Amino acid sequence: MSRTKISEDLFERARAVVPGGVNSPVRAFGAVGGTPRFMRSGEGPYIVDVDGNRYVDLVCSWGPMILGHRHPAVVEALTEAVSRGTSFGTATPGEVELAEEIVARVGPVERIRLVNSGTEATMSAVRLARGFTGRSRVVKFAGCYHGHVDALLASAGSGVVTFGLPDTPGVTGASAADTIVLPYNDSEAVRTAFQAFGGEIACVITEACPANMGVVPPAPGFNSLLRDLCTGAGALLILDEVLTGFRVSASGWYGLDPVEADLMTFGKVMGGGLPTAAFGGRAEVMARLAPEGPVYQAGTLSGNPLACAAGLATLRACDDEVYSRVDAAALAVGTSASEALAAAGVPHRLQRAGNLFSVFFTDARVTDFAAAQTQDTAAYRAFFHAMLDHGVYLPPSAYEAWFLSAAHDDEALARIDDALPAAAKAAAAASTA
Ligand SMILES: *Cc1c(COP(=O)(O)O)cnc(C)c1O
Repeated sequence: MSRTKISEDLFERARAVVPGGVNSPVRAFGAVGGTPRFMRSGEGPYIVDVDGNRYVDLVCSWGPMILGHRHPAVVEALTEAVSRGTSFGTATPGEVELAEEIVARVGPVERIRLVNSGTEATMSAVRLARGFTGRSRVVKFAGCYHGHVDALLASAGSGVVTFGLPDTPGVTGASAADTIVLPYNDSEAVRTAFQAFGGEIACVITEACPANMGVVPPAPGFNSLLRDLCTGAGALLILDEVLTGFRVSASGWYGLDPVEADLMTFGKVMGGGLPTAAFGGRAEVMARLAPEGPVYQAGTLSGNPLACAAGLATLRACDDEVYSRVDAAALAVGTSASEALAAAGVPHRLQRAGNLFSVFFTDARVTDFAAAQTQDTAAYRAFFHAMLDHGVYLPPSAYEAWFLSAAHDDEALARIDDALPAAAKAAAAASTA
């Protein structure tokens, strides 16, 4: 067992002043139990906690650290930017460069607006879609995560097409009622929703490739079907690439599955570990945004010079070599995890989409959220802790993708391989199957 005394003390202090001791719920280890580790530093594929334990990092800040921690180009860009000042509340050159970089990579994006988080990006894109169309209904899919926007924290009611119900206290029935929640990958349900409400639908929002219920790729043609139904009904298609953008390819999921959205959202990799995100799309739609148009949207720190510097340095360093390293590392880790679990007799399913992958602790084919929920979370919990004790930091939830970086070299991959057999045995012992 690793030492955790300092993390334990910090967690206790944190709980006295921060709800649940964390600033984002998954960090509290609620799904896996035990003491959340407080990290002190990172270097390449490794992170080090306050007690001095070193881990191979398979979270990578939930995606942004595609180059690994403290990449020299990012550190240099940030150091240079910080020496000039941290925020001016005015336009700055880096914002223009970052916007140009993204517009050059992603075909459907003609204009882009920078914001501070993925949540803000999807919230603003939905507002813009409603403002542009003059309609109120929004279609989303169960299991797709778009941040904690009120209208998008809705669950499906009963019946094939129903009004959304609030997913959490604090979201009013009114905010959720305009949201139609459908099962993912269910073409019939989408057709039915458009038949019933086509003229009232402002937009369909979906993860370009869902990775927040584990990795659940769109069935072939599913995103195109959404495109066609939106076009036919005069609704906008919003593809959320906050997670996939600039991670699965230089132009994100769009580079693998080039369906033209009206609006797209980005975050994570584009900030290089600093808080920045964006939404963008067709010039005609984006022109409705203030100050050019009437739809209001703003941000004191939007386009922050440090965030733009880190984001630009990250995107510019992401060359073909980086993507082939991430692809190769993802291929290797997914395969060895699956082999270790198979050898220990643990029911599981490895699902990939480009260099994204996740390991579901179920043998069901996972095409939607209901299937993802058949997982044996007790087995995952045992697996997670055994990996942690062997120096591998996995996502503290069975419903997450595992993230690699270009810095995950042979040594880091060997450490993962060494940890896997014992963890797979622990999972087998804890399995409720
Ligand atoms: C992470 C994520 C968000 C939310 O981004 P935050 O920066 O955490 O607000 C939105 N959509 C998707 C697909 C994400 O993965």
